[in-house]
Amino acid sequence: MSERTLVLIKPDGVERGLTGEILRRVEQKGYRVAELKKVAATQVQLAEHYAEHEGKPFYQPLVDFMLSGPIVAAVVEGDGVISGFRSLCGVSDPTAAAPGTIRGDLGRDWGEKVQKNLVHGSDSAESAAREIRIWFG
Ligand code: UDP
Ligand code: MG
Repeated sequence: MSERTLVLIKPDGVERGLTGEILRRVEQKGYRVAELKKVAATQVQLAEHYAEHEGKPFYQPLVDFMLSGPIVAAVVEGDGVISGFRSLCGVSDPTAAAPGTIRGDLGRDWGEKVQKNLVHGSDSAESAAREIRIWFG
């Protein structure tokens, strides 16, 4: 089976009506959306999902942001998709993210304690397996 990654469209992406545009980019790249759902994240899911960031200054603003509205969760499949989707996203800071990327084209700094950057993508095979379990059981 080809590689799988966990993609989240964060509350800013859903709120701004960018779900279709983001999934369009994923599909146009040639990846396959294997699972897709709109959900309200729970504190428990977020604590597990962002465990590596606990204690950092942006941690609580990040959790509050992720609880602020519905998110869209997807499992995306394809050879090389873990790093490939990270390339489609661009870097975490939307001001620095390159034009042509999701964060570079569609995102910007809103002057808040957390960078609202539209999307999450797993950063390794281990993260992908762990995160797909958190969001899809
Ligand atoms: N984040 C932030 N400020 C920072 C670093 C991260 O607001 O200095 C937020 C941002 O929304 C980011 C998330 O925390 O997407 C998780 O951070 P990570 O470093 O894992 O970035 P990602 O893997 O999402 O690019
Ligand atoms: Mg990360």
